[in-house]
Amino acid sequence: MATLLAWWREMGVDGATDAAATDWLARADAAPGTGYALRAPADTSAGSERATPSVAARPAPAPRSPLPSPSSPARESMVPARSPLQPAAEAPRRFPTAPPDAAALAAREAARGAPDLEALRAVLERFDGCALKATAKSLCFYRGNPQARLMIVGEAPGRDEDLQGKPFVGRAGQLLDKMLAAIGLGEDDVHITNVVYWRPPGNRTPTPQEVQVCRPFLERQIELVAPDLLMTMGGSAANALLEMEGGIMRQRGRWRDLAAGGRTVPVMPTLHPAYLLRTPVAKRLAWRDLLAVQERLLAAPVT
Ligand code: URA
Repeated sequence: MATLLAWWREMGVDGATDAAATDWLARADAAPGTGYALRAPADTSAGSERATPSVAARPAPAPRSPLPSPSSPARESMVPARSPLQPAAEAPRRFPTAPPDAAALAAREAARGAPDLEALRAVLERFDGCALKATAKSLCFYRGNPQARLMIVGEAPGRDEDLQGKPFVGRAGQLLDKMLAAIGLGEDDVHITNVVYWRPPGNRTPTPQEVQVCRPFLERQIELVAPDLLMTMGGSAANALLEMEGGIMRQRGRWRDLAAGGRTVPVMPTLHPAYLLRTPVAKRLAWRDLLAVQERLLAAPVT
């Protein structure tokens, strides 16, 4: 049992979100991402180069052993022959490595039609092109004001966010609220979201594919909120939104421009509050960035 728990933890299962387990395999074709699974190689050679949402799933790779050593004496007695989290070797692959182009195209199409934030939320609730949805409990869309002048974009929901269905409500979120309060802003003054809308298992950094699939929704969200300013929290959000390479320590504190919905929105990349919790000495850098944001908000509204 200890070995099984350790393996689950390594795979990102670090908490129970529901009283009863969801058997995603039993949901078969209804599992998130299924519609975007890759074509089997034979299909690909038959003509079309790109997978489409309706194509067949490719076969699963051989399951990886959950155990440190196949010869471990404890193995047979402790672990079921096939882990409930792994598909049978011959089963079709249920969760994607979705071809990002197919899923992102579908996302763009879906996001474009949303006339307001609630419609965008409904589209996201229905969207099955992001595999993160399979392991998350909730959609974390936004908290704060739908029409705020300042929009804040973080990396990804964590455990508390997944449980509550709102971005930045855990420890990092509480620090973020304090940081905003220090420049005179409350929840009604800001619109807080993330570059991906579902919690990555075990709080890992979202993959470029996951970011790419969620990006059309984020772009539409920025268009609909139409903020005067944006602030990204941490390197991952800055890289995702501004498509920049390099460490946040070099990027932070310098205004960038983001084209969104026919407008140019100034973006301030700053440090992530989770990093500030671990590295309090860096708070003075974040404070400088916050003051720059405050100064710009107090000036005439940017259009
Ligand atoms: N960290 C983030 O980047 N976003 C959240 O919503 C919470 C923690």
